[in-house]
Amino acid sequence: MAATAAALAPNVALAAAKDAYAASPYRKITDAEWRKRLPPAAYVVLREEGTERAGTSPLLKEHRKGTFACLGCGLPLFSSDTKYESGTGWPSFYRALPGALLTKTDYKIGVPRTAYECAQCRGHQGHVFNDGPRPTGLRYCNNGVALKFIPA
Ligand SMILES: [Zn+2]
Repeated sequence: MAATAAALAPNVALAAAKDAYAASPYRKITDAEWRKRLPPAAYVVLREEGTERAGTSPLLKEHRKGTFACLGCGLPLFSSDTKYESGTGWPSFYRALPGALLTKTDYKIGVPRTAYECAQCRGHQGHVFNDGPRPTGLRYCNNGVALKFIPA
């Protein structure tokens, strides 16, 4: 039990700092309910912080104008204006929409990385790195299966 509490601590601290969606009904959805709502591959990413296999997302080839929203709750996360070809095999963006994401440090691969999640439902989306293009220098490396594209 102690290990679980420690693992959750960064989330809790982050949420306390700024949590505009604390009262959202999406926060009350149980794990069992998410499992029913989401396609299995999306459940693994959004609720278990999984990573889809590189090169598998149809959104890699999505080049229309529009918005990339959280598959879990529909919150708009990225504009197509900030999508770019990173060559990584995951949909990549250099900027998130304001207030759309919460970040935390994870150590899943042994080195610290900055994971981010949807600010509303707290579904895991991906990781952000400092090797992106101008003007931000950021690379939001997102699991396509956790997103849905809404054409403009
Ligand atoms: Zn969400």
